[in-house]
Amino acid sequence: MKQKFARFMFGRYGMDELSKFLTYVTFILLAVSLFLGASAKTAVFTLAVLTMALSYFRIFSKNIEKRRTENAKYLSRKHRITEWFGLRRDMWKQRREYRFFKCPSCRAMLRVPKGKGKIRVVCKKCGTAFEKKT
Ligand SMILES: [Zn+2]
Repeated sequence: MKQKFARFMFGRYGMDELSKFLTYVTFILLAVSLFLGASAKTAVFTLAVLTMALSYFRIFSKNIEKRRTENAKYLSRKHRITEWFGLRRDMWKQRREYRFFKCPSCRAMLRVPKGKGKIRVVCKKCGTAFEKKT
């Protein structure tokens, strides 16, 4: 049985982070569908089945290169989102000591000490200078 499965999986893509994520989404959708009325339940349940089908399609796919590209795209998006939340969390933790400004030209987040009055902020990334009250 185990050998048969191993032979079946030979040359196929297998599990990755994106498929794991799709599996979580499937379970969340199934859980949500339990609390919905008849028509919404059908819609969410169908979506869950489609998500599951997509995840299985990816796992058993033989187009390994394409699946790898999809996974890389997913990982980079996930990284950007976690980074965004991480930055917000750090800003919240440091809100008493620092003020945060977005650089007007490159949109980088800049941190300056609070309570210094009007100061000239110079962006570390692109060198743009602007005045702000802290
Ligand atoms: Zn800048």
